[in-house]
Amino acid sequence: MIDLTSKEPVTRQALRINPIAGCQPLGAMYASLGIHGCMPHSYGTSGCSRFQKTLLKRHFRKSSKVTTSVLKESAAIFGGDANLKTAIKNIFETYNPEIVAVHTTCLSETIGDDIKACLYDFPIPEGKYLIHANTPSYTGSHITGFSNMVSSAIQYLAQVTANPNNKACILPGFINPGDMKEIKRISRLMGVDNIMFPDTCGVFGQRGVERINEYPAGGTKVANIIDLGNCKKTFALGKYASEAAAVQLKNQCGVPFKLMDLPIGIEATDRFIMELKQLGQQDVANDLEEEREQLIDIILDAHSFFYNKKVALFGDPDIIIALSEFIAGIGMIPQYAVTGTPGAYFEDRMQQIFSKYDIDGIAKSSADLFDLQQWLKNDPVDLLMGDTHGKLLARAEDVPLVRIGFPIMDRHVHSYLPIVGYRGAIRILEMILNALMDRFDRDHPENDLVFI
Ligand code: SF4
Repeated sequence: MIDLTSKEPVTRQALRINPIAGCQPLGAMYASLGIHGCMPHSYGTSGCSRFQKTLLKRHFRKSSKVTTSVLKESAAIFGGDANLKTAIKNIFETYNPEIVAVHTTCLSETIGDDIKACLYDFPIPEGKYLIHANTPSYTGSHITGFSNMVSSAIQYLAQVTANPNNKACILPGFINPGDMKEIKRISRLMGVDNIMFPDTCGVFGQRGVERINEYPAGGTKVANIIDLGNCKKTFALGKYASEAAAVQLKNQCGVPFKLMDLPIGIEATDRFIMELKQLGQQDVANDLEEEREQLIDIILDAHSFFYNKKVALFGDPDIIIALSEFIAGIGMIPQYAVTGTPGAYFEDRMQQIFSKYDIDGIAKSSADLFDLQQWLKNDPVDLLMGDTHGKLLARAEDVPLVRIGFPIMDRHVHSYLPIVGYRGAIRILEMILNALMDRFDRDHPENDLVFI
């Protein structure tokens, strides 16, 4: 029996307590919903799709259409390909999507069904598309599933034609629609015409559709995914979510790519804008310069409130890396950085950030919130930054929590408001300052008279 209040390190080999990751199909489902007119199809039991759809609903406060093959016990023995074919036939007939994106689950991967062979001779209605991605949940995380679906869509659809489109391909990674919108705004201001894929603006950020065979107005159109093969350059934002798709597009269509951190905070946004400047051959837009000046001004004004404050960050690796660089750059201390997604790059990149700012921090991938709680008991921090799953940890250790990342299930509006770009950095700062100052007010009621 593990003592959850113990300060002594608990060695574990095969147990995760409060993992900081979802399963692969969740990410594949989110990526599929970023394709216009797409019906995501979960090749597994009905419970899997229900769980993932519910999590998306709780984060975005919008429901989405998702289908499932409803595999039962017999499929585990005889295979589920008959269910899959029947399901896809029914989906095209009933829901009339432009494209069906199939992803696998634990069960179908354990059975070992070969989706490509199963769907090889499936009669796809004219003008429609059918793609699939393997998303075995017992490896990786929702970020891996997202990356697999984006890569797979490119593999199925992207083509080179004789007509270069002179556009940039932007692979935004697993971020909110509000962030995608902000990245498109920055690109537009820098004169870079682009195709963003996937794009959930206008999918989660609008009123739900009413008819059974109707789809949200947003999402990357299939024609644009095909056209990705004609792009001038790819910006892959976030190694974990976007690099594999950028490599796929390069190998398949010869589109060169630049792998970058998500543009969260000053330095990462600067780097992104400099890349856009090079491609767009245009000076930095006045609006962006003003936003940067405003951000720097706020940092100078509020510096005394956040300087030297220790922070523990947890969540998706691409977000945590960029966020850690931002807060270290403004004088905070990212003491702990943890992600549930596996991969050595996270720890390597975090060590670079620790060295750059001379921080004696700890970074761990394939980690869980129990790891973090044990560290906090021995060496506490001033602030937690992560998703809703950290709420109980924050309460137990009496540390304020800034909700950032995915999923945020106990707050509204967050998915509309960006954390990327300079405007996003201002919002992050506001959240950090509010959390720290609320805590200060609680602990020092005698100061109320000074501030009122
Ligand atoms: S972990 Fe496996 S069984 Fe559980 S919801 Fe994900 S795909 Fe389904």
